[in-house]
Amino acid sequence: MNRILLSSPHMSGKEQIYVNEAFETNWIAPLGPNVSAFEKELAAYVNTKGAALTNSGTAAIHLALSILGVGKGDSVFCSSFTFVASANPAIYLGAHVTFIDSEPETWNMSPQALERALSDAKKRGQLPKAVIVVHLYGQSAKMAELLEVADQYGVPIVEDAAESLGSDYKGKKSGTFGKIGIYSFNGNKIITTSGGGALVSEDEELVEKAVFLATQARDAAPHYQHSVTGYNYRMSNVSAGIGRAQLEVLDERVFQRRQVYERYVEELSSIEGLQFMPELTGTKSNRWLTALTFDPGIMPITPYEVMDLLNKENIETRVLWKPLHLQPVFENSRFYKHHEQEQAISETLFTRGLCLPSGSNMTVEEQDFVIHQLKQVIKQPLLIKQII
Ligand SMILES: *Cc1c(COP(=O)(O)O)cnc(C)c1O
Repeated sequence: MNRILLSSPHMSGKEQIYVNEAFETNWIAPLGPNVSAFEKELAAYVNTKGAALTNSGTAAIHLALSILGVGKGDSVFCSSFTFVASANPAIYLGAHVTFIDSEPETWNMSPQALERALSDAKKRGQLPKAVIVVHLYGQSAKMAELLEVADQYGVPIVEDAAESLGSDYKGKKSGTFGKIGIYSFNGNKIITTSGGGALVSEDEELVEKAVFLATQARDAAPHYQHSVTGYNYRMSNVSAGIGRAQLEVLDERVFQRRQVYERYVEELSSIEGLQFMPELTGTKSNRWLTALTFDPGIMPITPYEVMDLLNKENIETRVLWKPLHLQPVFENSRFYKHHEQEQAISETLFTRGLCLPSGSNMTVEEQDFVIHQLKQVIKQPLLIKQII
């Protein structure tokens, strides 16, 4: 059996049609009809006024923060429980980052911790220029509560929806609640352009500005003239061709990933001490990755041990994101916990949790193998204990 991966690209078969179109019209240079069409189709899918395609999700976050005026010495708030790419663009711009803990119902940003952080920042006279709210593993954060808090302080929210494309929050698409939302089309995400991203907003002027900055910020002049510093962040017409075909099957991919999740739940949820990532009422996760935690009191095995043992069976799993406030590179950053007096929620999740292979192209046989092996692996320490 081949190695079973966490999340691998899943082509629909129609990507070649759009890519061929690009080749036949010799539109290999960046920009072109696939880029504008994919932008329109994406904006229509998530129901926003505009979308700007970029060559990565990280680039889209960088553009979002630039547009919101983040600069040297500024402050930016960000979820702590996430991939480093959520926070790095703030550093590129010379800002410093304050990290906000998770809350247990979504594993995403805690509104009460955000409130405390904003209140402190206001007292110090340095409110952040933006709050980056991440929607992990497909699950939307508590956007209503977070927006209420951020609005009180007049601070805009950037949604890092890199992992939650296709997810719903209260009847609307994840990534469309903040001032700006970003998506990623990296190879491991729910749909891919081989590498790419997008920025969406209800503010069309803002989307135009993103395109301007993503194409070296050229002023309207017959020669090359620049009044501000831009970037080379645009998606190519070939990649956009792949994206158009992928977007057509996004809903199918969400359905398939949710099926993978449901099969895991059916087979594993009766095991004591094992808990799946919750889904908040009124939301529908794309279940990009099925994530679960092991209760160390009941199940004396660490996620690392499970990961190593499954790896020997050629199954790829991954421990949950290490919170950014614990990363050496962010050593001197502020951090606000969900409950001031208790262990941070993000730290607890990090020490207890694991992501299982969740690709939409995984076969039932492959998933059965993963389930069987996982059951074997978590039985082992219990056996050892009994012998002792
Ligand atoms: C993948 C990811 C990104 C970065 O996207 P790229 O397209 O790889 O640059 C940012 N944030 C989160 C939460 C991600 O999972």
